[in-house]
Formats: sequence, structure tokens, C-alpha cells
Amino acid sequence: MAIKTIFTEPNKILRQVSNPVEHVGKEEQKLMDDMLETMYAAPGIGLAAIQIGIPKRVIVLDIISREKEKKNPLYFVNPEIIWKANENLTYEEGCLSVPNQFAEIDRPKECHVKYLDYYDKPQLLKAQGLLATCIQHEIDHLEGVLFIDYLSKLKKTMIIKKLSKQKGKSERI
Ligand code: ZN
Repeated sequence: MAIKTIFTEPNKILRQVSNPVEHVGKEEQKLMDDMLETMYAAPGIGLAAIQIGIPKRVIVLDIISREKEKKNPLYFVNPEIIWKANENLTYEEGCLSVPNQFAEIDRPKECHVKYLDYYDKPQLLKAQGLLATCIQHEIDHLEGVLFIDYLSKLKKTMIIKKLSKQKGKSERI
């Protein structure tokens, strides 16, 4: 396993639409292992392959390991939301590609997701609460969408300006 560099906004890579995976084999499993290690090291609770520059429809999540000692990684290949609740949930979201920025975002509070697991087996997950929010956030990455895209133009511009400044500083060191 290896820790990869996480790309941060503004960066064109994050705006790419990721490609479906034909078959979950050794290469994809290694990618998921690397993604998970990168996510835990960050630390974060979700990561999409495009955040480390790989345009494949692959995401990893672990929303409970922060509270509990035991790790509980979830792997999703070609995830597709097949049902969404009408009711929304508001959650203060952040993103490893939008460092140190947080904003309240509304998303459907429940969703059903169809996907292939780590072993190429088709699965269906009925997610609610934080898990539903995270899955939707990560699937957005596969479409080149970031949570700041849901904010007003003014707020989004302010965040991107701040991130550009931070980037300028860290690149000078
Ligand atoms: Zn994110």
C-alpha cells in the first residue's frame, strides 16, 4: 500500500468525469488499498479515485473508524444511486480536496446504491444519515462535482480564492 498525493481545488483534474471500471481485478484492488491508506493518513472519511488523479469510478469510505478503534472500510466500484428520498438532511461537509473549508449542504437523507464490491460482486446498499451524505458526496466527485458547487457563486469564489492563496504559500516553502 502507498500514500498518494491528494489533489486540491482549484485543479482541472478534479473536474474530470471518471470512467466506469469493466472488471474489479488486482489493479483496482491495489488502487482501493492505496486510496484507503491515503484516506486514513489524511485523515478523512471518504475518497474518490479522481482525488489522487485516477479517473476511475472507484470510491472508499469509512465513517465509523473515527469513533471506534476497529476499521470498517467500504469499497464501491461503479456506484450508482438508484433511489433517493424526497426528504433532505443538512450536514456540514468538508473535503480532502477542499482543505480546511466547511459548509452546510442539503442532500437526500436516504439513498439506495448499486455497485461492485472489492471482489467484483454486485451489491446493493440502503444508506441513510451520514453514510448517505458521504456516498452522494463521493459519487459527485466521479462527475467532477465538488460540494462547493452547491454554494452561492459568491461563497464559492471566496473559498477558491482562499485555496489558491494557501496553495501559493505552500508551494513556496
Ligand atoms: Zn470530497
